[in-house]
Amino acid sequence: MSEKPHGEVQKGFRKIVYLTFPPEVSGRPVVCNLARLFDLSFNILKAEISPRQDGTMTLEISGLETDFHKGVNYLKENSVRITPVAQKIFRDEDCCIHCGLCTAMCPTKALVVDKGTRKVLFEIDKCSACGLCTRVCPVQAMAVDLDENGRN
Ligand code: SF4
Ligand code: SF4
Repeated sequence: MSEKPHGEVQKGFRKIVYLTFPPEVSGRPVVCNLARLFDLSFNILKAEISPRQDGTMTLEISGLETDFHKGVNYLKENSVRITPVAQKIFRDEDCCIHCGLCTAMCPTKALVVDKGTRKVLFEIDKCSACGLCTRVCPVQAMAVDLDENGRN
């Protein structure tokens, strides 16, 4: 059972995914069903859906990890293609002021303070695309690349 606070940032598992919908699915409420059937919260970061055409959507999903995996399986069963967007999280190196705020939020330690230089390092290979850093960074140095998605 999951308690679901309806606040901005929900505790628990979260992940950003990129979805591709075949034409026959584009008009169906499969994403809304993530909330209805699996108690997941979602935030649509970008969507391009047209009737009778392939659709794409970048979606931030949060909830319990077990529910997340059930939701992902449900999407796959409904012919939705799912691509993790970990490689699409990027840092604007010119913008980062190395305040360290993101290091406290990052669940995978992809963002850590270098003890020697006191600079914040970003190790993209460790990033799980939870998106939390993009919410806390005061200068929006951490962001999701929404333009390049789906070209892989
Ligand atoms: S929160 Fe933003 S500015 Fe601060 S260290 Fe992280 S990326 Fe840099
Ligand atoms: S770098 Fe950002 S998006 Fe990646 S795991 Fe850490 S907090 Fe989440």
